[in-house]
Amino acid sequence: MGEDCIFCKIAAGEIPSEVVYEDDHVKAFNDINPLAPVHVVIIPRKHIATLNDATAEDGGLLGNMLLAAAKVARIKGVDERGYRVVFNVNPEGGQVIFHLHLHVLGGRKMNEPPG
Ligand code: AMP
Ligand code: ZN
Repeated sequence: MGEDCIFCKIAAGEIPSEVVYEDDHVKAFNDINPLAPVHVVIIPRKHIATLNDATAEDGGLLGNMLLAAAKVARIKGVDERGYRVVFNVNPEGGQVIFHLHLHVLGGRKMNEPPG
């Protein structure tokens, strides 16, 4: 558990969030500063700092995060229109919070990759 980790606190319910989906492994909530009409952050309940810190043992968890992204897209009604799923890794990748998370973005035409 990362001490003073904002996403660990959101996972534990110590900081409120607008929950979109949750299960035993992940929690998905609306981004506080949305970059698109649909912008949801999916976190594992387990503290992993970045994608670089994920191990083979975390493979199932990473799969759960991706499956949760598809569920979130369906819940938000953008599954058919389309959406984008992004991991930001380390500062040059745009990562600001060092608890692994997946962004689900949709509801508008996304810029051509890599955006
Ligand atoms: P990243 O830049 O990939 O580290 O993304 C972190 C994301 O978390 C940003 O899009 C923030 O807007 C979002 N965020 C930060 N604090 C909160 C919060 N308390 N509730 C919801 N989203 C948050
Ligand atoms: Zn954490």
